[in-house]
Amino acid sequence: MSYTDDILDHVRKNNSEQPEFCQAVQEFVDSLTPVLEKRPDYRKAKILERMTEPERVVMFRVPWIDDAGEYQINRGFRIQFNSVLGPYKGGLRFHPTVNLSILKFLAFEQTYKNALTTLSMGGAKGGSDFDPKGKSDAEVMKFCQSFMTELYRHIGQYTDVPAGDIGVGLREIGYLFGQYRRLENEFSGVLTGKSVNWGGSLIRPEATGYGAVYFAGEMLAHCGRSLEGKTCVISGSGNVAQFTAKKALELGATPITFSDSNGYIYDPDGIDAEKLRFVMELKNIRRGRIQEYSERYPSASFYPDARPWDVPCEAAFPSATENEIQLADAERLVANGVEVVAEGANMPTTPEAVDALQRAGVLFGPGKAANAGGVATSGLEMSQNSMRLSWTEDEVDGRLRQIMRQIHQAASQAAEEYGYSGNYVAGANIAGFTKVADAMLDQGLV
Ligand code: NDP
Repeated sequence: MSYTDDILDHVRKNNSEQPEFCQAVQEFVDSLTPVLEKRPDYRKAKILERMTEPERVVMFRVPWIDDAGEYQINRGFRIQFNSVLGPYKGGLRFHPTVNLSILKFLAFEQTYKNALTTLSMGGAKGGSDFDPKGKSDAEVMKFCQSFMTELYRHIGQYTDVPAGDIGVGLREIGYLFGQYRRLENEFSGVLTGKSVNWGGSLIRPEATGYGAVYFAGEMLAHCGRSLEGKTCVISGSGNVAQFTAKKALELGATPITFSDSNGYIYDPDGIDAEKLRFVMELKNIRRGRIQEYSERYPSASFYPDARPWDVPCEAAFPSATENEIQLADAERLVANGVEVVAEGANMPTTPEAVDALQRAGVLFGPGKAANAGGVATSGLEMSQNSMRLSWTEDEVDGRLRQIMRQIHQAASQAAEEYGYSGNYVAGANIAGFTKVADAMLDQGLV
């Protein structure tokens, strides 16, 4: 058995109930063989063995009272995976599917994504199986306050700085921050994704979607093409999906789909700026379902319980959740002529689907690289908080664009150097891994 097979075997045995975590580790380790052959010092220092074990896992009870006066109990988590490059950093997810496996995979990925941004941030993730859908504002506030009443003792501006993710947006970050400030009697940059009225950064809400589009643009530009004029299939209709659509429109591309967990809408006439405003109002203010789009715009159809990958397109932006593009979806995308896929979501494409896309010559940007714009801009929010000043929209967007360009360059150079030319999955894994591994060597056995 090879060294990497040994590692994977050990990870699978030790985490047998955690399929998403094992999938993320396998996808990562599979790219590293040539690096490990060139650098025996990594193996000697047991870098991979240490990297696959979180530094700390916190699990806790979250009790709260709903509007009917019933007691409710949820489970809360914070996975502090690796802090060798800086304070732990990564989002909080509130969704009924949240469990230890999903959060460990997300925290693991986050470590290497954060390394790629070139900013000083370790990797973490957290959240709860709480479902904000259908809850009143008062219920969401009570839940957030109870969640923070435990979490606050494990985080801090120099220790761990959480952000949003699925189910955690401006409203939730506001309630979480308020409770932290009250408990610690301190106003500090302990969370990112804050409102610009009280310490947030301009462009942070936009950053993940914008970054995914910039990354797709970099991959296309690298081979003399551009996004202009391309039709874009987008899944999800939340934060990442909305701002992916906005930037795609700005760059002359045409978004044609959105989805949520009930199905997808397909608008062959294109989703223009006015229709996008409707979606933002529907999802962010009225908290409605995407099906309403097809009721408002007769050019569109709604497909229940389905994902949008059958719709012919040149660019695809999976922006909802993990494992949403499976092998058959990838084959369909290829048959319909897709040229570029950029992952706005984390691990939305299964390993078999990634293989199929890459074999067909599709430019494929993995989440670790393509959606790193969100956390990069969170890093910029932390810098502004520490300096107690706010940069302009143009300044933050300029830095975001520059960071996405650097991530593209780092991933493509690492791929080239290790014989994986054009493979951004391997390139991003290797560039992230070597940065974290070298820092771990420098800091000794901890
Ligand atoms: P939001 O909560 O704003 O939106 C999530 C969207 O995905 C909703 O439309 C939701 O539909 C849909 N969705 C969620 N779970 C499922 C599911 N199991 N099946 C089908 N649809 C689903 O989250 P974000 O836009 O912030 O996050 C989307 C993805 O991007 C996630 O993978 C996240 O980890 C990743 N990401 C987010 C970053 C950020 O800055 N926000 C940064 C980097 C990555 P419904 O309303 O029906 O649940």
